[in-house]
Amino acid sequence: MDPCIFCRIAQGMEPSYPVFENKHVLAFLDNNPFTQGHTLVIPKRHYINMFDIDEEALEEVVSVVHLLVKRYEKIIGMSGVDILNLSGVDGQQTVYHFHIHIIPRFPADNLVSWIKSIPRVESDLKSTQKKLMSD
Ligand SMILES: [Zn+2]
Repeated sequence: MDPCIFCRIAQGMEPSYPVFENKHVLAFLDNNPFTQGHTLVIPKRHYINMFDIDEEALEEVVSVVHLLVKRYEKIIGMSGVDILNLSGVDGQQTVYHFHIHIIPRFPADNLVSWIKSIPRVESDLKSTQKKLMSD
């Protein structure tokens, strides 16, 4: 048996609540929803996370994310949305099969999604910019 739970879901070997499927992508409800309609969108092919997914697979997943956001806006009347990917141990990834969360937001849903920022230091921004733009 495939050890990856999301591969098993994509193969129909584990129960899930799918909301969309095409040749390469599956979307299903998160088992532990943050809000109504909290959805996970995955490539059917196994990729670990943002570090190894190829550009074509990522584009296919993001395209479905966009389609579902527009659909959910009409169907469940969400007034906002959080799109979230967690990659790697320090990114707090828990299932090691690439996935993007669609977290519908509603007025007064009491979900706190803002991450506290570190203090702004101008010289750090400049040196970080320089580092990130070099090859
Ligand atoms: Zn997998």
